Amino acid sequence: MKKILIIGGGFGGLECALGLANQPGIDVTLIDRTNHHLFQPLLYQVASASLTAPDIAQSIRQILCDASNVTVLMDEITQLDAAEHTATSATGHVHHYDYLVLATGARTGYFGNDHWAQHTLCLKSLADAQDIRRTVLTNLEKAEMSTDPAERQRLMTIAIVGGGPTGVELAGAFADLMNRSLRNNFRNIDTTVLRIVLIEGSERILEAYSQDQSAYARRRLEKLGVNVRCNTRVTDIQPQMLHFKEGEPLAAAAIIWAAGVASSSLTAQLTTPTDRGGRIAPLPDLSVPGCPHAFVAGDLVSLLDAKQQPIPGIAPAAMQMGRHIAKIICKEISSRDPIDVAARPAFRYTDKGFMAIIGKNHAVVKSGGIELQGFIAWLMWLFIHILFLVGFRNKLAVLLGWAFAYLRDNPSARVVAQAVDLSRIAPANHAK
Ligand SMILES: Cc1cc2nc3c(=O)[nH]c(=O)nc-3n(C[C@H](O)[C@H](O)[C@H](O)COP(=O)(O)OP(=O)(O)OC[C@H]3O[C@@H](n4cnc5c(N)ncnc54)[C@H](O)[C@@H]3O)c2cc1C
Repeated sequence: MKKILIIGGGFGGLECALGLANQPGIDVTLIDRTNHHLFQPLLYQVASASLTAPDIAQSIRQILCDASNVTVLMDEITQLDAAEHTATSATGHVHHYDYLVLATGARTGYFGNDHWAQHTLCLKSLADAQDIRRTVLTNLEKAEMSTDPAERQRLMTIAIVGGGPTGVELAGAFADLMNRSLRNNFRNIDTTVLRIVLIEGSERILEAYSQDQSAYARRRLEKLGVNVRCNTRVTDIQPQMLHFKEGEPLAAAAIIWAAGVASSSLTAQLTTPTDRGGRIAPLPDLSVPGCPHAFVAGDLVSLLDAKQQPIPGIAPAAMQMGRHIAKIICKEISSRDPIDVAARPAFRYTDKGFMAIIGKNHAVVKSGGIELQGFIAWLMWLFIHILFLVGFRNKLAVLLGWAFAYLRDNPSARVVAQAVDLSRIAPANHAK
């Protein structure tokens, strides 16, 4: 039996495990620090109270329950020793492997200003999405009770730093929440005047899309009431306060950081250089240079496609890599010949395009030479995500419930379960 250790049950790791499932001579251990596989593309809907956490996550153990050769462990790997073929976890367990698949994804990056993390919210995990939702909803509750206009203004300002897909999707979703879903829910505040400020350092949002599509996205967001500020560099972040290279500071009770990603810190432990984001440039077969038994998949890979374009950090790329690695491992184990790295097939990325939603009914899609925007693009987005989720959750009822609430502007995920500190609210004046 050959031991395969997969670290990370995200899109790359899970797809690799599925490719190795029930294969003869293969004993797989998949380790993830969470117990669930997360559908990150819909995280922003949890953050903006449209979906609940279980709608977009599924137990890894459950997904792999029919794979009798796969053991799933919930643990965090903290150390790798490529020479010894071992990985050590936070709980002190040492795992030996014949093949390693490192698929630990990306984390939020702050361009060297890691201290900004304590004053900002980010969107990478379910806990992050729930933090954003709790903060935004409780800020509105506080604003409803506050009689201090400056305090209210601050509580009713959401600043989103980063005009990439995550920032754009969040801004559009919050605008929809305020303009449609919550508009009749409060008595002292008007949610439609809530300030959503989208801050982008470069000259346009959605830089991966064409000029026309970014301009379209900006127009759509502005129509929804979002204040889009391009060419605006953040120089410092203090509690509930953003400072810029030029212009006045911005007071915002919710500051969401959607501007940078950095690779998982484990990549630094594989004896190969990483790029500035901590990503590894593997050999064409996705193995780590100098470590033929170690592969990397997903967001921590830095690789060019056949057109010499960087392969994007998106779910289809991670899945394709996971499948490619599984095929190589299966072939090598079944043939039992000595490993010949040069004979391994190179990974070929199939670009299926990407899309971003800009509030309800509008999206941009870029796929090969095709560019779409508007309602048709939004329908495509809806169709693809529903299709994905049906396969993923296998719970049509949940989906129909979501689709119904979504279409009727009546999202179901507004309950804040955690205890909230309401002590810092100005005295209420309910006599109107
Ligand atoms: C908000 C957001 C929106 C997105 N939207 C889209 C979209 O619309 N379309 C799209 O295609 N892509 C989208 N992406 C990107 C996509 O989700 C990623 O490209 C994809 O998840 C990468 O897969 P991965 O396997 O590399 O990493 P992940 O899916 O992030 O999985 C990594 C796994 O590793 C685990 N892990 C990390 N470190 C350790 C450790 N030390 N020990 C054990 N386990 C560990 C994590 O818990 C996680 O489960 C989005 C991402 C985000 C954050």
